[in-house]
Amino acid sequence: MKKRDIILVVSLLVFAGIVFLIFNFNNKSGKTVVITENGSTYGTYSLSENKVIGIDTDLGHNKVVIKDGKVHMEEADCPDKYCVDKGDISKTNESLICLPHKLVVEITDDEIISNNDDLDAIVK
Ligand SMILES: [Zn+2]
Repeated sequence: MKKRDIILVVSLLVFAGIVFLIFNFNNKSGKTVVITENGSTYGTYSLSENKVIGIDTDLGHNKVVIKDGKVHMEEADCPDKYCVDKGDISKTNESLICLPHKLVVEITDDEIISNNDDLDAIVK
């Protein structure tokens, strides 16, 4: 094998490695669950903590379940049930949307640095 061929092979391997890293970066698991109700933040929750969140608004009822690093809509009394049918989400930027209830459950990779019920501070 010529030296030039070795350089070519190494370059290809490095390139493949970078592509692999980018792919993994885009598919990494998120850290934080952000629930938005009618355009304003309802709450932020850690994806690593199992939790059941009941959301009752004038528009209806939803039950969001965080379990084993995944989130799903356990219950909803919306007419279409798309949010329930969507199943588990766990990756950054994935979301569960309940249009009839104007509810969005989104996963971000922001870290929650303080988590009390009145004010959730998140840092990018
Ligand atoms: Zn729904």
